[in-house]
Amino acid sequence: MDGREFRFAMGNFSTGVTVITTEVDGEVSGMTANAFMSLSMDPELVVISVDEKAQMMEKIKESGKYAVNILSAKQQDLSMNFAGQNKLDKDIPFERLSGVPVIEGCLAQVSCEVTGSHVEGDHTLFIGRVNDVHLEENEPLIFFKGKYRSLSPIEEMVRS
Ligand code: FAD
Ligand code: NAD
Repeated sequence: MDGREFRFAMGNFSTGVTVITTEVDGEVSGMTANAFMSLSMDPELVVISVDEKAQMMEKIKESGKYAVNILSAKQQDLSMNFAGQNKLDKDIPFERLSGVPVIEGCLAQVSCEVTGSHVEGDHTLFIGRVNDVHLEENEPLIFFKGKYRSLSPIEEMVRS
């Protein structure tokens, strides 16, 4: 198995898309990420995985806080902007949730403080204790096989 094959296999796991945001010395930074999951209910914890080469690594270490912004199907341009794949030619407005910058128009904004970090391979897992969430009714942006998609409903099965 080579790296390409590994990425190809992982790309078959469809995910939502998030932008991780944080702030250091009044400067807001964002990074597109799909390595995000809900970790614990009691206490409420989430985890993200950040590449050692990403600028976001040091920024989160320094701020000790981050927010997970779950993108809507209308926010593909934001995903591409924060993955460095294109540049929006307008300023992106940030709101604040529990003192952490968040992006408007997302399905969910999840504001966290870092309670632990684990280096594994070439990524660091940042455990975040959730301080606040804000929800909006929207359709999600999906990432599958390296491409963006939107959800289409299928017939719901009845539980027996
Ligand atoms: P930079 O390269 O400095 O920033 C990324 C981009 O965001 C730059 O173009 C920058 O101009 C822009 N930007 C930053 N702050 C602002 C701001 N305040 N206003 C406007 N624009 C701004 N990598 C991971 O480590 N973990 C993942 O889970 C992950 N998942 C991904 C999922 C998808 C679908 C994609 C497409 C990429 C994913 N990546 C992931 C890769 C990651 O998004 C890129 O490598 C990214 O460029 C890393 O950003 P950086 O922290 O190095 O910051
Ligand atoms: P891709 O085909 O590279 O990604 C498919 C899947 O492979 C991703 O969903 C992820 O699960 C996995 N993957 C890709 N790069 C990884 C990495 N460096 N570490 C761990 N898992 C990784 O998708 P793409 O559209 O070509 O991606 C654009 C860029 O974003 C690439 O440079 C890619 O490496 C990066 N990316 C990084 C991660 C990550 O660090 N977790 C996740 C997705 C995409």
